[in-house]
Amino acid sequence: MSDGRVLRMGMIMLAGAVALGVGENGAAGQAGQAAAGQAAAFGPGNPFYAASTLPYQAPPFDKIKDTDFQPALEAGMAAQLKEVEAIANNPAPPTFDNTLVALEKSGQLYERVQEVFDGLTQANTNPTLDKVDEIESPKRAAHDDAIYLNEKLFQRVAAIYKQMDSLGLDAESRRLVDVYYKKFVHAGANLSAADKLKLKKLNEEESTLQNGFRQKLLAATKEAAFSTTDKSALKGLSDAELAAAAEAAKGRKMQGYVLPLQNTTQQPILMSLTDRATRQAVFEDSWNRTERGGANDTRETVVRLAKLRAEKGKLLGYPSFAAWTLEDQMAKTPEAAVKFMDALAPASAAKATEEGKDIQALVDSQKGGFQLQPWDWEFYSEQVRKARYDLDESQVKPYFEVWNVLQNGVFYAANQLYGITFKERKDIPVYHADVRVFEVFDADGKPLALWYCDYFKRDNKAGGAWMSNFVEQSKLLGTLPVIYNVANFPKPAAGEPALISFTDVTTMFHEFGHGLHGMFSNCEYPLISGTDVPRDFVEFPSQFNEHWASYPAVFDHFAKHYKTGEPMPAELAAKIRKAEKFNQGYLLTELLAAAELDMQWHTIPATASVDKPDAFEKDALEQKHLWLETVPPRYRSTYFQHIWSGGYAAGYYAYLWSEMLDDDAYQWFEDHGGMTRANGDRFRKMVLSRGNTEDLAKLYADWLGSEPSTGPMLKDRGLVEETK
Ligand SMILES: [Zn+2]
Repeated sequence: MSDGRVLRMGMIMLAGAVALGVGENGAAGQAGQAAAGQAAAFGPGNPFYAASTLPYQAPPFDKIKDTDFQPALEAGMAAQLKEVEAIANNPAPPTFDNTLVALEKSGQLYERVQEVFDGLTQANTNPTLDKVDEIESPKRAAHDDAIYLNEKLFQRVAAIYKQMDSLGLDAESRRLVDVYYKKFVHAGANLSAADKLKLKKLNEEESTLQNGFRQKLLAATKEAAFSTTDKSALKGLSDAELAAAAEAAKGRKMQGYVLPLQNTTQQPILMSLTDRATRQAVFEDSWNRTERGGANDTRETVVRLAKLRAEKGKLLGYPSFAAWTLEDQMAKTPEAAVKFMDALAPASAAKATEEGKDIQALVDSQKGGFQLQPWDWEFYSEQVRKARYDLDESQVKPYFEVWNVLQNGVFYAANQLYGITFKERKDIPVYHADVRVFEVFDADGKPLALWYCDYFKRDNKAGGAWMSNFVEQSKLLGTLPVIYNVANFPKPAAGEPALISFTDVTTMFHEFGHGLHGMFSNCEYPLISGTDVPRDFVEFPSQFNEHWASYPAVFDHFAKHYKTGEPMPAELAAKIRKAEKFNQGYLLTELLAAAELDMQWHTIPATASVDKPDAFEKDALEQKHLWLETVPPRYRSTYFQHIWSGGYAAGYYAYLWSEMLDDDAYQWFEDHGGMTRANGDRFRKMVLSRGNTEDLAKLYADWLGSEPSTGPMLKDRGLVEETK
């Protein structure tokens, strides 16, 4: 699932800080001893001062020092603000060139430094960078506001927007006008002065509540962890798991054992715990973590946030917060997103129910003498999985050596589909010895992009995997893309091969799919180039690229034993494929339930008041036939961080929406001859090269020849019978 995977896009030009990352990455706060103090002077000695002279304007990592960032960030913001002021105060009447093209050209110094800074604070940070991040984050947010709330600038953009039809602009330029105008309006630029003040107050309160929610949830999750001094309650745990539980207790200055909670409802540790009473206790600790009364209960916060967001939607002129949020998304309206989810619900719930019956049969066969409960699911489904699929990771991994997978899998697939080739560049400076750089060439031999990979886990790297760019493609600026992929694969000891799981293989294809979306970008303007697309579209190219990992012609090309070069036995390969369909009814249902909850919370009218969040939650799910006793939502409302403080408000559906697009797209390939250059080139031309230069729903439908449908997604998850 894409939920755990991350795409962290660099801050796009101007205010487009689209925080697409999820998960627990917000640890920028550890104040280092080396406080950045007074910013040093900024001058030609700073490596960000001028554009890099390296190929593709690659960052000169051999020259960049930690102390260079703060002065460059501050000088970059100051320079852009000056440029923006000059555009806003230009005495000449507004034109496309003197306003929008000028805006697109502004902020190049800031762009240079922030792309590298954001890359390093995620992938290779240290206390000095963390401290700079802490100091600069609020200034950067204020910088973005200063641009999008500049009244004079908005008046110019609005004037151009209103006369757009008479300006003779090409389609991409029209799209730029449209995107800029809507960004300003979205931020509240059209409101009266009094309403702007109201919006500012709502935004401030929202920000405070979001922070409060995050802190309460963190504390509640810590506090609700199951603890015991009775080792026999933890039967089933491995020695390593027991040691970790003892360590966790020690860390909290407690006796015995502690099982820290994960952020989801279900807890992976339930897979191992044989004592049913312990399982129940752990599950209930998770389920009730934020509803125990006291300081860390989030019920009031959640209710107020939902109400406040409804008021905000209304103030901005929309029927709901979700309507305001979805306006610039591919789905466009909450109704479209809900219709999509509703269509998935029956097949999903039916499959989950069927899986539950399988588990109940297993419980009965073991003379369990009880009805299946949510805290039993992980434990027994793991037994079903072992019995049915018997897939042993240690058997599989020798066939997936990371560099072989890269060359003969990831690169090979891209070559077969798009004709591109790769050459390692050892002369390009890197920020860590583990990073490798490849130059990418088009089918005709022309230079296309630089691509970096930083695959191995480090203590100073955020969790998960992501893609971003150091340089964004733009014809206007004359830049080619410089892209990077980061992951957290286990690093082998010196001299040992890096053997990875099939999940990790899939992650490589996923992040490289984002990479292709960036590398193939062939756009004029940076604001709408490459992966700067709506949230419900951005995971489509990456998830689509995952399909090639198990495409037979690709899989057989890379799945070879690292020692002998023997291909993976067909039986083992078949097991991997079959195991991918396991437990999918459950997994889809818990996701759908969370996504429907998100949308229900964010479509309440401003006049409504919810006083019982639990009743609201139950009603919401019952209406959708997704209130299943044994399949709880992936997140309960009161600990649903994505939507209350993670930037995914009214946006959790996007994961599933993108999945519909990628499965549907893959089906198109299957129906048109599979992996061929013709199919690849058509996809590149009509989708991957286009960035956000056209309405995404239209772009997709033009390529596919119809609207997207959920059929292939249900088939891919094994929720409906295969038709062929
Ligand atoms: Zn992704």
